[in-house]
Amino acid sequence: MIRIRDIRLPFDHSEDALGGGILERLGITERELVHFTIAHKSIDARRKNSILAVYTVDAELQDEAAVLCRFSEDIRISQTPPLKYQIPTVESVSGRSPVVVGSGPCGLFAALILAQLGLKPVLIERGKEVGSRVKDVYRFWREGQFDPESNVQFGEGGAGTFSDGKLTTQIRDKENRSRKVLDEFVKAGAPDEILYQARPHIGTDNLVRIVKHLRHTILSLGGQVRFETKLTGIHIKAGVVAGVVLNDSETIETDTLVLAVGHSARDTFEMLAGLNIPIEAKPFSIGVRIEHPQSVIDTAQYGRYASHPLLGPADYKMVHHCENGRSAYTFCMCPGGEVIASSSEPGGVVTNGMSSYSRNRPNANSALLVGICPQDFGGTDPLAGIGFQRKWERKAFEVGGGNYFAPVQLVGDFLAGRPSRSPGRVAPSYTPGTTLCNLAECLPEFVVETIRVAIAQMDKKLNGFAMHDAVMTAVESRSSSPIRIVRDESFQSPAAEGLYPAGEGAGYAGGIISSAIDGIKIAEVISGKPSKMA
Ligand SMILES: Cc1cc2nc3c(=O)[nH]c(=O)nc-3n(C[C@H](O)[C@H](O)[C@H](O)COP(=O)(O)OP(=O)(O)OC[C@H]3O[C@@H](n4cnc5c(N)ncnc54)[C@H](O)[C@@H]3O)c2cc1C
Repeated sequence: MIRIRDIRLPFDHSEDALGGGILERLGITERELVHFTIAHKSIDARRKNSILAVYTVDAELQDEAAVLCRFSEDIRISQTPPLKYQIPTVESVSGRSPVVVGSGPCGLFAALILAQLGLKPVLIERGKEVGSRVKDVYRFWREGQFDPESNVQFGEGGAGTFSDGKLTTQIRDKENRSRKVLDEFVKAGAPDEILYQARPHIGTDNLVRIVKHLRHTILSLGGQVRFETKLTGIHIKAGVVAGVVLNDSETIETDTLVLAVGHSARDTFEMLAGLNIPIEAKPFSIGVRIEHPQSVIDTAQYGRYASHPLLGPADYKMVHHCENGRSAYTFCMCPGGEVIASSSEPGGVVTNGMSSYSRNRPNANSALLVGICPQDFGGTDPLAGIGFQRKWERKAFEVGGGNYFAPVQLVGDFLAGRPSRSPGRVAPSYTPGTTLCNLAECLPEFVVETIRVAIAQMDKKLNGFAMHDAVMTAVESRSSSPIRIVRDESFQSPAAEGLYPAGEGAGYAGGIISSAIDGIKIAEVISGKPSKMA
């Protein structure tokens, strides 16, 4: 197979135009092109009057050697690189099953690889299996009945189960681990297009099915999966993991413990700190969700082609560096999505965003965040960032009315520095409800100032971003982990051999794909295959 990059066609090209583009690029006849598949597809909408689809394809040709020779100077044409992830061979096995804590992308993929290697992992998850979890989450969203152990952060599939399911990552992936994740998702029912779309997404509806399918695969390979089972203690003997305590009542012996607990396991972090497991405070971000009519974003991005079915709802990504030294940036944008209640502790309001696969809701939303660092937390304790998050989540709860309604403000009022008194034409999508207010009451002052400047600047890049009636919902405080659980070159805690801090909560990943990749790396290390630190 040969790989041909950068084939540019009008985004609404005919079905046979791509084949034609390959023939034209290579100067070959139809007979010489045996077969081709799309390896990558992106949309280039920089020129709104001429929006392009940009393809990379893998083609099987009658005479590939001749073509490669002819195009040896053309960097857009090469042999297709290997696409398959090589599962490691097991080099060292202890008699006991490895225990993986947390069934988010990191824990799921660590357990999946361990199971595929025949190492029969025990995967434990404090929350419920995904079916029951979905019911609990919807009860919270509809009726405001909150369950601290079964919510958007806790339960099968982890934090990303209720999400837009964006599957992008900046990670360089020579080992094809990211491809492995996408392949497993497709086997579990995700659409094939995620294998080649530049910005693939699968939506909450697909994610719920996928995590269930992954669980069944782990079980079919001899692994165990236990729900409503919380890691509450770790036995460490002479600096080596000896066992885990579950639900304060049961002990399992193990010498291998993967800690993939996500960024919201505050009680687990406290337990680890109590065991003197080294933890560091790390920078994270805080801010709001901002919602616009999707049609405004589509028009800003696609001009006259706005709402064309081949383009789908548009997205955006922006950053603004302010003169005060702070930066604000948009994050985890959810086209045609909803702002969702994402609390994991009673008495706190936390927002985030999700979409279904169809992305067919009227509003676009995105996090609008300001980066903060340990100096902002007001303390030197490694867990001080959690105290900072909790403070603003509780303020948002109070300002919202003390019933999990979220505080909201119209962008026009926010920019003018006055409280919102009446709703505008953008209906906030957050449920169970919202309370109009002045968001300055539940955000740090420097965050308010930074976002105020950034919105005006971002409007210059995305027309309509500062529209008066756009809605801001607070507080988004869980975009990444406020701590790092230290691990050494061997991916283990320096305080306990056999303890593998992993994924987003431990500070080594951010997002579904990078968390899953970290889980794969940990499984590789456990199996004995050397894995490079990244
Ligand atoms: C609403 C929302 C939308 C998102 N959208 C996207 C997106 O579109 N694309 C993207 O790439 N990323 C998205 N993210 C981020 C992504 O979900 C996370 O980066 C990812 O889930 C982190 O994976 P993880 O496995 O490290 O941790 P998590 O997914 O947080 O999983 C940790 C798991 O550990 C369990 N756990 C915690 N403590 C214990 C314990 N003591 N005992 C047993 N179990 C425990 C938790 O219940 C949880 O299930 C989103 C996050 C949220 C909340």
